[in-house]
Amino acid sequence: MPEFCPKCGAMVADGTERCPACGARVQPRVLDEKTGFTWADFFNYSLYTLLVLIAAIAIPALIAFLCLHFILR
Ligand SMILES: [Zn+2]
Repeated sequence: MPEFCPKCGAMVADGTERCPACGARVQPRVLDEKTGFTWADFFNYSLYTLLVLIAAIAIPALIAFLCLHFILR
């Protein structure tokens, strides 16, 4: 699948890092053909999930700790 330079719009061959016309850096897209899955999406999703999980665990744990701390004093 050919890509196009984001700067000048010239067609860039697969696997080429720089545009042959203007020399701009072309980001090689790592895209699964079937699902449209990209590793960037995966890492963003993982990071978001991780943050939500940490919040979901840390906030009740903090509340429980504070309750116990004040009740069992
Ligand atoms: Zn270009």
